[in-house]
Amino acid sequence: MERVYNFSAGPAVIDQSVLEKAASELVCYRDKGMSVMEMSHRSAMYVDIYNETVSLVRELLCVPDDYAMLFLQGGATLQFSGVPLNLMTGSGIADYLDTGNFAHLAMKEAEKYGKVNVAASSLADNYTYIPAMKDVKLAPDADYAYITTNNTIYGTRFIELPDTKGVPLVADMSSNIASEPLDVTKYGVIFAGAQKNLGPAGLCLMLIRKDLLGREHPLCPKLMSWALQEKGESMVNTPNTYGIYMLKLVMEWMKENGGIAAFYQNNLKKAAILYDAIDNSKLFSNPVVRKYRSLMNVTFVTGDEAKDAAFVKYCKQNGLENIKGHRNVGGMRASIYNAMPATGVEKLIRVMRDFEKANS
Ligand SMILES: *Cc1c(COP(=O)(O)O)cnc(C)c1O
Repeated sequence: MERVYNFSAGPAVIDQSVLEKAASELVCYRDKGMSVMEMSHRSAMYVDIYNETVSLVRELLCVPDDYAMLFLQGGATLQFSGVPLNLMTGSGIADYLDTGNFAHLAMKEAEKYGKVNVAASSLADNYTYIPAMKDVKLAPDADYAYITTNNTIYGTRFIELPDTKGVPLVADMSSNIASEPLDVTKYGVIFAGAQKNLGPAGLCLMLIRKDLLGREHPLCPKLMSWALQEKGESMVNTPNTYGIYMLKLVMEWMKENGGIAAFYQNNLKKAAILYDAIDNSKLFSNPVVRKYRSLMNVTFVTGDEAKDAAFVKYCKQNGLENIKGHRNVGGMRASIYNAMPATGVEKLIRVMRDFEKANS
């Protein structure tokens, strides 16, 4: 069977060459006589895979040595609790920028552990923009400030960062990590669920400035203690060994294809042609403020639920899957992560034009 173009928001498309490489090594990894899934996480053969993954991520994402790298389970969502449990222990106050569904969930979770200062919010406008940084009201004594750099459901992204005046900036980058150049040093903590741009679900990549380790709440569960996980090289218990291996394959594929810089250029082009097509259409429109448009998740609507549903069905008939938008926004959402080729976006644009012609 032919592969479809999969516009899922996550778990999301993985490049076919990565899947084929995994398939070729699935039963016997190189000369080891066993699958990566069957290896002890303490064995020399697996530790080699682990170390290679760390060094590839460090190289591709330009991660400085004073940042710890963790591969944890529980997805991005576990860190909605992990962040306050590890950091909300000084003043007990944290700033949250409420810019979307996941930001809001993270904020609600943090409220269990301390005082949340909602530094800015676009909730009242259904998260159609990112608040201007000059209007962000940060608490001067906060333990950290928290942002979600790309809002997966609403299709917006940060284009500038708040000036936190030395307060560590924590960022959920689940849906845009590795899609554009990243200056890690601007952040205290970065985390990302893997299932958008980094591989299959079940793994959360974390980058933590080392001076922020060891601040955890006394009741912080052992597996959620960043300091213990750093000391134990993410192997306080059995890690997601296969997920880490898949991340390695994704990093190798990115490196072979020009690294972040090349993917960024491609992502800019893909987003530009898709937003252009939407802007030039009389049927479809994009509901978010233009300058905050996401490069990864492109939302669009017809304004008529029946037409939206008909379009989603028409996409399916044309080999374009998972175009239906999230229920909070309605309409459509095309997630065009690193592994979505330009040909997929071009086909979507053709299908949009055909549908518009037939329905006007
Ligand atoms: C997908 C996503 C999450 C949730 O990830 P899980 O791994 O399912 O916990 C959190 N934040 C953002 C920005 C996301 O895109």
